[in-house]
Parts: sequence; C-alpha cells; structure tokens
Amino acid sequence: MAEATSRDHDPDFADGVKLDDLKDGGLLAGEVAGEAVLLARRGEEVFAVGATCTHYHGPLAEGLMVGETIRCPWHHACFSLRTGNPLRAPALDPIPCYRVERQEGRVFVREKLARAEPRPRQTPTLRRIAIVGGGAAGNEAAETLRAEGYGGEITMFSAAGDLPCDRPNLSKDYLAGSAPEEWVFLRPEDFYRERNITVELGKRVVGLDARARELRIADGRRLGFDAILLATGAAARRINVPGADLPHVRTLRSVADCREIIARAGEGRRALIVGASFIGLEAAAALSTRGVAASVVAPEAVPMERVLGADLGAFLRALHEEHGVAFHLGSGVASIRPEAVTLTGGERVPADLVLLGVGVAPETALAAEAGLAMGNGVLVDAFLQTSAPGIFAAGDIACWPDKLSGERIRIEHWVVAERQGRIAARNILGSGERCDIVPFFWTQQYDVSLSYVGHAAQWDRAELEGDPHERDCRVSYFSKGQKRAVATIFRDGESLAEELAFEEALAAMP
Ligand SMILES: Cc1cc2nc3c(=O)[nH]c(=O)nc-3n(C[C@H](O)[C@H](O)[C@H](O)COP(=O)(O)OP(=O)(O)OC[C@H]3O[C@@H](n4cnc5c(N)ncnc54)[C@H](O)[C@@H]3O)c2cc1C
Repeated sequence: MAEATSRDHDPDFADGVKLDDLKDGGLLAGEVAGEAVLLARRGEEVFAVGATCTHYHGPLAEGLMVGETIRCPWHHACFSLRTGNPLRAPALDPIPCYRVERQEGRVFVREKLARAEPRPRQTPTLRRIAIVGGGAAGNEAAETLRAEGYGGEITMFSAAGDLPCDRPNLSKDYLAGSAPEEWVFLRPEDFYRERNITVELGKRVVGLDARARELRIADGRRLGFDAILLATGAAARRINVPGADLPHVRTLRSVADCREIIARAGEGRRALIVGASFIGLEAAAALSTRGVAASVVAPEAVPMERVLGADLGAFLRALHEEHGVAFHLGSGVASIRPEAVTLTGGERVPADLVLLGVGVAPETALAAEAGLAMGNGVLVDAFLQTSAPGIFAAGDIACWPDKLSGERIRIEHWVVAERQGRIAARNILGSGERCDIVPFFWTQQYDVSLSYVGHAAQWDRAELEGDPHERDCRVSYFSKGQKRAVATIFRDGESLAEELAFEEALAAMP
C-alpha cells in the first residue's frame, strides 16, 4: 500500500503557519524535519501529530476528526490527538505527538513529545489472567491489559504454532507474494517478552471449569486463573464429498495454512476456489496475481449478492474476469480427484489446488462443554462477560446484544474482534465499558478496496449511488426503511461519516 509521506509542496510547520489558515475542526498536512505531520484544530487548541496511520500507513489528513480524536480513512483506526495513543483497532501503535507553539497568530511545530508510560494499576484480586486464543481479540486484550497498567501475570494460549498474525493479510498481500512473511506477524517475539506476556504457542486448551476458573491444557496441565478471556475464533468449514480429504484440498485460516497453499501455488498451476466468499474471492485475486490460473465455483448466481447486492456482486465478478478468473456459478462440487474437480453439473475442472472458502464455524466447543450459556456463539452481556462471572468472550465466538439492531449478533470481522478484545480486557480490570460498537470491515481485491460499516444481516432494499465500474460508489442497505449498513468503494470520507452517524444513533438510544 502507498505510504502517506511528506510531499514537496507540503508546508514545513517548523516555519509556522497562520492560525487563521486552519479553521476550527480543520486538518492540515505538512512536515517537520522530513516527517509527515498533521495539524488539527479544535476550538482554540491546535494539535500536531504524526500524519500516518500506524496500521497500514493511511493518510490521516484525509481522515475524520471527531472530538479530540482522528480516524484513519482506510481501515477506521482511531488515535487520541492529545496523547497519540491508538484508541481503536486496527492500529496497535501510537502516532507521535509534537509540541505546538503559538506566536503572533502563527503556529509552529517543535520537537516530538516524550510518551507517558502507563500508570501501574493495583489489582489485588486479579493476579493471573488467561487468554485462550492468540488471534485478533486475544492479542489486543493482552496488549490492552499492559497498556492499562495491569502488572500481574498474563498467559495467552494459542492452538496455533505461530505468533498472532495479521489474518486479513493471509488472503491478500502475503498470499499474493507481495508481502514477506515477517510482515504477517502482529508483533515479534521480543514484544511479548519485554512486556512479560507469556505466549504458549501450540498449546490447545481442552477443558474449562467455569466455576473454578481452571483451564486444562492439551499437555495435561490444569491451571487456575482469576479471570479468563475466551477468544478462540473460528475454524474454516470443509465439504463432505468424495476426495475432499485429498492433500491438495486446503482451507485458509492460519499462517501454516497459507504456507501450505503458497507451496502449491507456483506459476502456471491451476486452482479451483470453492465458494465466492470474501476469503474465496480475495484468494482468487491473490493467486492470480501469483500467476496461478484461478477459477471459482459457487452455488449463487451472482458472487456476494446476499451481502453486497446485485450491483456490487456483478462488479466483483467482472473485476475478477478482467484478471482471468473463470466462474462456475449456480454449481457445486460433486467429487475431487488429484488432478481435477467434477462439478455437480458434470463439468470437469482441472485443478492442482482446491481451496475451500465455504465459511467458518465459531470455535465454541470449550465454552459449550463448560456449560456456559450458548446461542449463535458464546452468549455475552453488553460488557462481554459470559454467563460465568470472571469469564469473558470476544471476537468471532462472541454473540453480544447489539443496541442498534435490538438483536444479539455475532460478527466475523477483524476490527470487531480487536475492539472487543480491548473492551473485554478493560472490563476484566473493572472499567464497565459497554460493547456499543459499529461493525466495520474491508476487503481488498486487486486494486479495489471496499469498506463496509454497519450490519445488515438481512436487508430489503439496496440503494446505489455512483458507479462501481468507475471505482467510485456507495451502496446503502435498508431493512424496513431503516439504513443498516453502507458499502463504499474509494469513498473513504463517506464511509467514516456513515460510521459516525451510526455511532451517534447508537449513543442517542436509551
Ligand atoms: C484469510 C482471512 C482473511 C480475512 N480477511 C478479513 C478482512 O479483510 N477484513 C475483516 O474484517 N476480517 C477478515 N477476516 C476475518 C478476521 O480475521 C476474523 O474475524 C478475526 O481474526 C477473528 O478474531 P478472533 O480473535 O476472534 O479469532 P482468530 O483471529 O481466529 O484467533 C483465534 C485463535 O484462537 C486459537 N484457538 C482456537 N481454539 C483454541 C483452543 N481451544 N485453545 C487455544 N487456542 C485456541 C487459534 O489457534 C487462533 O490463534 C479474515 C479471516 C481470514 C481467515
């Protein structure tokens, strides 16, 4: 992705700018000592912070200022303008803050300010916290506990053999071969060591005694904790047809899965992707970027129509076809052989690699077997606590009461999982923060990035404005006359504004 760096014509804030050039609520991009800096004015106060999002280097000057915060236009990370701290996923690291000086109606940006260390927090009844799952929610929870000043033990158990990874990247740049493997991990090993976070990789938790808050690990240990966060995510579904267990039939969830797929995805190979899901389509894009001949088989007539509607679905199909991807729609897999797949209509599609993108199932067995209240996932209250006191759940497994829809929902988005990991961690420490969030996700296919805010599991009307083929549009999804969600292509400012409007509606609810 392009990086937001200072440009030749950007003003040098060390030379000062007129305060009047910056309106209340205004943002101005410039530089100081060669680094991209953002000025943001709120009333009479002017903030100077780094202008580049620490997630994927999005240009914060094109973002949205809300109160004393700035939101990134690309993936909706949010930072405090006063401290630089990341307040919302997907950013993990702070942006720098600079000293601002005012002289005779001009604003000068001086040196970078030192960062304040988190104030240690006394937690006499909380000495040992376990996090089950080393993914989006688990990692964010571990980081948040330390950022909030918790000094006791943190143990994160992960069934995966690798450190927490940037899972969305697995079907995008990393799979396409445009990002090296080191980029895929959220943090290096040292990060956890320096913060005294014990990460137990390859350690599946196989039992939970909810009353005693005790975990049973696959290696036989039984360990007690004062609080537990369940963040076990989801597992990719498989299909049940002859040949589905052949070694070239793969799913994509972990770094290990991705390595396997890459090993089978050399130039000139043929891949059949089963399912026109986001992961399936992103994988088709990434594999064809690698020179693999990709085709997609799916039961629907238009890819992604149920979620995104006919217009965006038809656009995505055309986009893939422009890149040489073949679609077999209205069809399924009848059987798989090492060199080819037979479709339900009898057609034979040659394939050296079959990638199943047929959805995921939340990993809820641990919670269910422990007797926790279950529904479409692990039932949690508005504070993400399960039916057992001291045991919380977040991410793909958590089914929480969503005020905006008035329903319990469970969402499989990266940013939602991270935001919930943060909220759960703060609530373990006693913050009493409600999980009142507006879901956001994005998908990247070739050079097209689509953002989606809100949640419309069902909708009865989709309103298109603009033209997807021009890569400039927005689709609003309504249910019974109520706007539930908005998808945009290259209208990042609108996506941020829609998110804020949903949040304001949420805040106004009793
Ligand atoms: C390839 C891919 C691409 C994606 N792209 C996007 C995207 O572009 N945008 C978006 O919004 N979302 C995307 N998602 C979805 C997003 O990654 C998930 O919603 C998110 O990772 C969920 O976070 P989580 O913490 O709940 O679970 P995960 O991130 O899946 O982490 C769960 C962890 O728990 C571990 N675990 C499971 N059971 C146990 C156990 N019993 N004991 C110990 N450890 C256990 C697992 O090994 C794993 O490490 C993508 C997902 C995939 C797979």
